[in-house]
Amino acid sequence: MIRENYQAVEQKVCEACKRSKRAREEVTLIAVSKTKPVSMIQEAIKAGATVFGENKVQELCEKYEELPKHLHWHMIGHLQRNKVKYIVDKAELIHSVDSLRLAQEINKEAIKKELTVNILVEVNVAEEESKFGVGVEETEDLIREIAKLSNIKVQGLMTIAPYVENPEENRGVFRTLKKLAVDIKMKNIDNVRMDVLSMGMTGDYQVAIEEGATMVRVGTGIFGERNYAI
Ligand SMILES: *Cc1c(COP(=O)(O)O)cnc(C)c1O
Repeated sequence: MIRENYQAVEQKVCEACKRSKRAREEVTLIAVSKTKPVSMIQEAIKAGATVFGENKVQELCEKYEELPKHLHWHMIGHLQRNKVKYIVDKAELIHSVDSLRLAQEINKEAIKKELTVNILVEVNVAEEESKFGVGVEETEDLIREIAKLSNIKVQGLMTIAPYVENPEENRGVFRTLKKLAVDIKMKNIDNVRMDVLSMGMTGDYQVAIEEGATMVRVGTGIFGERNYAI
């Protein structure tokens, strides 16, 4: 089942790239494996997946240890400062940085481990109260502060769009994030690249690709519904 799902998602990613005249290589498909067992991840690997997204530090660490080392792990969920030390050397990209204090903690641990850590700044484009992320208006100022930290590289922006019935409703959100990235890129801030746009989930990743996503985070579409009760 996972193989078929993965192939169907891959097909839709290809189609969205074609529609928007983009090369398939411009978009990274992140298989969001949170709450799912290692056995299911292994099935996804057989189908061709190499990049996985997790939202809990402990779960990411456990899966990292158990699975082959050629895989790429992304931290996509809210990150507490006291857990930063466990993942700076395991997550290739942290998508969810939304405060200077968190960035400072990441920098501190990166210095200790002599690493450069790649991050995205999470933007709450739709200004939903229930969501983490910095507001559109505050994003540039936060990035200017983070850019001063020696062992962090800001690679771009991430957003979690609202849950909607019709993915077209989120097109404006994706467009806003893209525009924000372009605007900030034009400022040529030292130590800041604005080449990564992480946006789009199972319900709306095709629209996100059409609007410039370079990373889409797909969980349910690949692994099926999550059961948080178990
Ligand atoms: C769970 C999660 C996803 C995947 O959501 P689906 O709707 O299952 O594709 C994507 N991004 C983040 C940040 C998540 O927490």
